[in-house]
Formats: sequence, structure tokens, C-alpha cells
Amino acid sequence: MISLNVKKGYRLKITGEPPKELVELPKPSHVALLPEKIPFIKPRLKVRVGDHVETGSEIFEDKRNTRLKFLSPGSGQITEINFGPRRVIKEVVIKLDNKESYVPFEHINKDGLQNIDRNDLVKMLSKGGLWPLLRALPYQDIAPTDKVPPQIIVSLGSSEPFQVSPEIYLDGNTDLFAFGISVLEKLSNNNVIIAANAEDKSRLPDQSGRITHIIKGDYPADNPGVILYKTKTSAAQNNSWFINTQDVLLIAGLLKEGAYPTGRIVAVGGELAPHPGYVKTRIGAPVSHITQNENNKIKSRCVAGGIMTGYSIDKKSFLGFYETSVLILPEGGKRELFGFIQPGFNKQSYSRTFLSSINRSHLNMNCNMNGEERACVACGSCAEVCPVDIIPSLTFKCTLADEIEESLSHGLLDCVECGLCTYVCPSKIEICTILQNAKRSYYKEMSG
Ligand code: SF4
Ligand code: SF4
Repeated sequence: MISLNVKKGYRLKITGEPPKELVELPKPSHVALLPEKIPFIKPRLKVRVGDHVETGSEIFEDKRNTRLKFLSPGSGQITEINFGPRRVIKEVVIKLDNKESYVPFEHINKDGLQNIDRNDLVKMLSKGGLWPLLRALPYQDIAPTDKVPPQIIVSLGSSEPFQVSPEIYLDGNTDLFAFGISVLEKLSNNNVIIAANAEDKSRLPDQSGRITHIIKGDYPADNPGVILYKTKTSAAQNNSWFINTQDVLLIAGLLKEGAYPTGRIVAVGGELAPHPGYVKTRIGAPVSHITQNENNKIKSRCVAGGIMTGYSIDKKSFLGFYETSVLILPEGGKRELFGFIQPGFNKQSYSRTFLSSINRSHLNMNCNMNGEERACVACGSCAEVCPVDIIPSLTFKCTLADEIEESLSHGLLDCVECGLCTYVCPSKIEICTILQNAKRSYYKEMSG
């Protein structure tokens, strides 16, 4: 087992952490697929409003690669297809019925997996709608169906606050996890990295003894991109694939049972979450169902996908295909009486100008920016925390000046889009978004 020590990063201590208890929610009345939240695809609808679908029926495919199929996480009727600006397909809403009917898929057991041809395995995963769970670095796009990856990285858990702990979803599922890892081994010619955070290791079930790397360090030390950056030995590995551990279980479930798996464990946290904890629900469940009647008295914001990497979501919307966490945070913005003379003992800040730098307890966090974007003051904080040794201030300036070659030489493609540079920047510059957009434009340019 290899031990990796990631020195750069930052540990956020925020109140509202979900207790490690799993609650199974009743079946929601509706579910939805959100094509606009799946980057790099061009969706083509395969259903119309009024159509009846089964669990596993095809809802849309990617026009550019029709092997990428996105399936219904429940049986029922298509009740809405909502479009955003410029006719982008935003949501396909399915009203669930009482009977649960499934599209049957091929299934295999452990022995079958040993003997199956790799191409047939790829076909099973594409037809079964779960191939898009495999993603490729450095762009985090869906893994190409026609290539063999140099390796697949599976990071158990995430050091980002309020994510589902591995001991929750691995509990009782260690055999299924082992089967899922065997699938990944088949896809990658036995090149799978299984990494666990040193703090999680002792709490994991025995079967997860296939761990190959132990990661020490603050957020985002256990991000697959950071693991790649710290371990790669050749340029070919830059295109390694990765998959979330919960998704390994979904893939294993599909192949073992021959039915599209719909379960999702979601972490619900944040200061205003009425019932913080872990909930077992369905892919594409409504946000209001997951948060269980959020407290509306205080102005709040729902964030899907993580406090550093997530996005603001409408409370009437649904959970995206990849998302496993929902946070509810106060909007903030209330003026403090004599705030300018307060020492900031309870203020979240990376900067040591507040007394909170000596406060070891978890602190409240809200969405207030506390000021407008300003010019970069060259403080160096972004470089201090960047886990992949980029100097974000230089890279984003090159990007804004359209000097793409220059920003590539500063490590643009190593950026793992962790959001830490944006969080620590005292000038409120959306560095991560600028770099993410630059990576996406470059991707489009490269793929024609
Ligand atoms: S540049 Fe920013 S977003 Fe990218 S890896 Fe570094 S800290 Fe994270
Ligand atoms: S943290 Fe912000 S202000 Fe400081 S160097 Fe980086 S970009 Fe500039």
C-alpha cells in the first residue's frame, strides 16, 4: 500500500455536518433527468410528454456518441420536458407510478466476468445507461467508449465537507464493491487505484482491504486528479479515468441484477438543513423531497454537489445524475452592528486577519460574498493552497488574456477544479470558474 502525503490544501470546519445515520426516504412522486448538468454532451430526446416509461427506458442519448444513453430512474409517465434559454433541455420529469416495471438487461456473475470480452462489457454498460459514470481526466468528461484507460482511479469518500462517508455506503455492500472493482479491472487491464483517506481507513469495512493508496492531507487531497498528479509516472496517464465509489456499486448492481439501479445515498447538511443526515433516495429525486421540508423562514440557498465544487440549485428542481450531496446555507448579508470593530472570532476566513484563525471549532458559513470582485492583490493565497502546484493567479490572467498556450504551460490542465483558490481569494475572483471554462473551451477546440 502506497502512502501519499498531500501538503497543500485546506480544511474547512463548518457547522451543519450530517450525523452518520442513514434514513430511507419513501418513494418520491416524481424524478427527473437534468441533461444540462451533464457537461460535454449534446442531448437528443428519445421520449415525448405523455409517454410511458419503465425503469431503464431510454430518455435521451448523446448526439455525438449515441452509445451514451441516459435512462429513466423509475417507471411512470413523462409529464414535463422543460427547456432553458436557447432551447437547452433542462429537465425531463417523470411521474412515478405504483408498480415498478423494469427494462431487462443482460447480467453476469463473477465467473462470467472473468470470461467476457472487454467490448461486450462496454456494450453492457452503455446499453444499461451507466457508462457515463466513468469519467476521464483532465476534462472530467465522460470516458470514451472506444479507448482503454491507462488506469482507473477510485477514491473512497471525499474530504470535501458534507459528502457521503464511505462506511455508510459500503456497509453491507462489500461483495458488490469487490465485484464492481473487478469490472473496472477488466476495463483497464488491471490498472485500478483504490485510494482511501487516512482518516476514513480505520472505519471502513474489512472487504475494502483492496485499497492501494492511503492519502493524508486536507481537502482536496483525495480528489482523483490530485492522486493522479502525485502518482503519475508518464504523460499517457494524464488521461486516466475515475469514478465515484457509490457509482462503482451502481455499475456492479446493473451487471449482477440485469436491472437499472436507482438508489442514491445523499448527504444533507448545512446550518439550515432541517434534518441533516444521510438519506437513501433515488437518482433524480426532487430537492424538496431530499431536504424534507426545509425551513423557509430564513432566506437560504440550496447547493447541490458540494460546498466547494457544487452549484446553486432551485429548491423546486431535482438532483443531478452525479450529485450525492445537498446543502442548505443561509444567504447571509445581514449587517452586523459595529461589525468593523469586531475581531471576527466566529468568522470563516482563510486569512489570518480575523481572530478565527485561532478558533479550532466549527464555524457557521453563509453565501454572502462580503464585498465585490476586486483586482488581484498578488497575495499568493491561491498558490499556497493549490494541491497541484499551479499558480492560479498567473494561470487565470493568461486565460483572460487569451494566452491559452501560456496558461497550459502554467498547468491549466492539471487543475482539478476543486474551488479552493476561489474560496481563499481575498479579491473574490472566481478563479476556479475561469479555469474550468478555459479547460472546456480548449476541450471543444481540441475535439473539433
Ligand atoms: S487552480 Fe484552483 S481549482 Fe484548480 S486545482 Fe488549484 S486550487 Fe483547485
Ligand atoms: S488569492 Fe486572489 S488576490 Fe491573492 S494572488 Fe490569488 S488571485 Fe490574486
